[in-house]
Amino acid sequence: MVERRRVRVRGTVQGVGFRPFVYREAVALGLRGYVRNDSAGVVLEIQGRPECVAELCRRLTDSPPPLARVEAVEATTLPPTALPSEFVILASDGEGEPNAPVSVDTATCDDCLGELDDPSDRRFGYPFTNCTNCGPRYTIVTAVPYDRPATTMAGFVMCPACQAEYDDPADRRFHAQPNACAACGPAIRFTGGATATEGPAALAAAVDALAHGAVLAVKGLGGYHLAVDAADAVAVATLRRRKQRDDKPFAVMVADLETARLLVVLDEGGERVLSSPRRPIVVAPRRPGAAVSPEVAPGLGELGVMLPYTPLHHLLLRRLARPLVLTSGNRSDEPIAHRDDEAVARLGPLVDGIVSHDRPIHIRCDDSVVRAGPGAVQVLRRSRGYAPEPLPLPFEARRAVLAVGAELKSTVSLARQRSLIASHHLGDLEHLPAYEAFLQATGHLARLYAVQPEVVVHDLHPDYLSTKYAVELDLPVLGVQHHHAHVASCLVDHGRVGPALGVAFDGHGYGPDATLWGGEFLWADLDRYERLGHLVTVGLPGGAAAIREPWRMAQAWATHAAGPEVGRATGARFDDRAAAVAGLLERPTTIPTSSVGRLFDAAAALLCGRGRVSFEGQAAIELEALAAAVTIDPRRGATGGVEVRWEGDQLVLDPAELILDLLAAEPGPEAAARFHDALGHATAVAAALLAGRHGLGVVALTGGVFQNARLTQIVAGALRERDLEVLVHRQVPPNDGGISIGQAAIGAHRPSI
Ligand code: ZN
Ligand code: ZN
Ligand code: FE
Repeated sequence: MVERRRVRVRGTVQGVGFRPFVYREAVALGLRGYVRNDSAGVVLEIQGRPECVAELCRRLTDSPPPLARVEAVEATTLPPTALPSEFVILASDGEGEPNAPVSVDTATCDDCLGELDDPSDRRFGYPFTNCTNCGPRYTIVTAVPYDRPATTMAGFVMCPACQAEYDDPADRRFHAQPNACAACGPAIRFTGGATATEGPAALAAAVDALAHGAVLAVKGLGGYHLAVDAADAVAVATLRRRKQRDDKPFAVMVADLETARLLVVLDEGGERVLSSPRRPIVVAPRRPGAAVSPEVAPGLGELGVMLPYTPLHHLLLRRLARPLVLTSGNRSDEPIAHRDDEAVARLGPLVDGIVSHDRPIHIRCDDSVVRAGPGAVQVLRRSRGYAPEPLPLPFEARRAVLAVGAELKSTVSLARQRSLIASHHLGDLEHLPAYEAFLQATGHLARLYAVQPEVVVHDLHPDYLSTKYAVELDLPVLGVQHHHAHVASCLVDHGRVGPALGVAFDGHGYGPDATLWGGEFLWADLDRYERLGHLVTVGLPGGAAAIREPWRMAQAWATHAAGPEVGRATGARFDDRAAAVAGLLERPTTIPTSSVGRLFDAAAALLCGRGRVSFEGQAAIELEALAAAVTIDPRRGATGGVEVRWEGDQLVLDPAELILDLLAAEPGPEAAARFHDALGHATAVAAALLAGRHGLGVVALTGGVFQNARLTQIVAGALRERDLEVLVHRQVPPNDGGISIGQAAIGAHRPSI
C-alpha cells in the first residue's frame, strides 16, 4: 500500500528553512517526492506508507520551523506514480511575487546558543553565530529575492566549512543567508580612548569598561545602543546627562528569564513574550528592591526589561553578570543610529568606547516595546522582531495602498490583497533623521514587497511632513481623519471591518472643525465615520508649549471649572506666566481641544506637581503610577464629577466637578485613583449610551491614552458588564504608531476613493 499526496502550505514559509525541514522529515519517514517554493508558498508531493504520509502532513502544522507561520495546509490525494526514488528539493518556479519575502529579525535559537557555549564547537564564543532558524533578516536585506548577495553579508565569502553547511539540505544552515564563522564572517571591534582591539580581546575590553562604569555604544541588530551597568547610579546618571534625557525610562537587558523575574513581576503571558524569538522590551511592574538604580526609570512603578537577542548580547551579559541599561543610540527622539560613521559622529562624543562590528545594518530598527499587564500583552512599539511581518487583512484589498501615518511615532504601511505590511518604528518626523528614515522605509518596503501603490493615504493635518510627502506624490490621495484611523487600526487588530463604537482618546489629532480632537466617540467602520460625542473642549494655551508644560493645562481646566480667577491662581502655583496664559485662554484664536491626553496632563500637574515634562505622555504615566497604590474596585461605579450631557447632536463629557475635586483634594494615590475611576466610568456610560442608540454591539478602545492600563481596565470592565463586546489593542499599537495601519486598512477597503 502506498499513498501519494500533493500538499500546498500557505503562510510565511519562504526563507525560514521550510524546505530543509520538509526534506529532513520526509527522509526520516522514508517518503519519496519533492518540495519547492512557488508564488503561493511551498508545495510538496509525497509518496509512501499512508501512515507516514499522514504523519508528515501532521508535522507541517504541528511542528514547523520556528520562523514559519503556517496559515493553511491543503492536501489532495493522487494516484501513486513513479516518483524519484528519493526525496529532493527543487528550485522554485520563479513566478509571481512571494507573499512574505523577508522574515523578521529573530533571537539566537537554542541550537546556536549550544554551539556558542560548547568549547569543542567551531563557533564557540563567536558573536555572529546564526542559522536558518535565527539571526538577522530584515535589517540586513537590501533587495529581493532574499539571497546572500542581496544582504549586507554580500562582502563576506564563506569558508569551505560554512559553504558545506549552506549547500547541505540536511544541515540546519542550508541556505542560511547570513551564515558565518570566525574564520570567514564579521568580527567585533572595541575602540576606547586610544586603543582598538578585535575579536575575543574586544569583548573582554568592553566588559571590563562596563564593569568600571563606562558608557559604551554597542552595535546590535538594528542599530547602536548606549549601554551602562544598570546598578551603577553614577554611570546611569552620566548616561542621562550625556544623552540629554531627563526622565524618560531606560530599558534594561538581563542575561536570562530568572534574572528578569528578580526585577519585574511577570505573569505567564509576560514571560512568554519576553522569551519569544521576537525579544521585545517588556514593560512590567517593578519588584520592590530590584537591583537596578532608581535613575533607570525615575518616578515609575514599572520597568522595561529584555533578554539578549544576538550572540554578542549573550556574551556581554554573561561575562558582565549584571543587568545592563541598553537604550537607543540617539539623542532625544531621533531614530537610532545604525551606520558606523554616523555612530562615531553622533555617539562618539557621548561615550567612553564603541563596540562595533563589520556587518553593515541596512535598515535601522529600534527595539519593540510591549506592555505586560494583568492577563494581557499589548504592543506599544512594533519594530524589531515584529516588522515587517504582514498582518492579515479581514478582506481583499480593493487596491494597493501606501499609508504614510501621522507625525509622532511614525510608521508607514502598505496594503495589498489580503495583507498589510507595516514598517518598523521611524521616530518623530519633526526630526530630519526620522524623515530620512521615513523616505527610506517607504521606498524599501514597496520594492521588497513589489507593491505599486494606486492610492496614498495621509492624515488630515496639512502641516505634517507625511501629509506634504503624500500630496507631492503623483498618485490619487485620500485624507483620513486621525481618530478614524485609530479606530480602524483597532478593528484590523481584531480582524474586523466594523461598524463599532470607537472611543479614541489621545494627545491630539486634526479635527475637520478646526479644533484639535483627542477625546472622541465615533461611529466607525473601515469606510467612514461619524462623530457622536467628545470630551468638552478647553483652550490649548500656547499650542506646543501646552504639551511640554502641563501646568498650562491645569490652568485651562481650572478656568473651565471655576473661572479665570481660580484658573490664574492655579497656574501661578507653578509658573509666573499664569497671567499671560490667562490672556491666551481668553483669546479667540486659541485653539479649543477635546484632548483626553491634555486632561491627564492637567490632573498630573495638580496631583503629582508635575509642571513640565521631558517626554510625551510622561505626566499621564506618572499619574497612573501614583494611582497604582489603590486597587481598582469594580464596585466603585460612580462617575463622580464627570457629567455626561447632550449639546445639540453631540454627547459631551464634562469633568468640571472632578477638576474642582482635584483642586481641593490632598494630592496622592487616592485622588489619582478617583480621577481614573470617574473618567473611566463616565466614558463607559457615554459609550454604552451611544452604542445602544446606534445599535452597535462592539466598542473599540484606541488612542495613546489607552496605554493606561488602569483606565482601560475600568472602561472595558464597565462596558462588558453592560454586555458590550470590547476591543482592546493587542498586536497593533494604540498610539500613533498604529495610525498608518488604520489608514492603510481604510484605503484598501473603501469602495471608492
Ligand atoms: Zn540558530
Ligand atoms: Zn566560515
Ligand atoms: Fe493619535
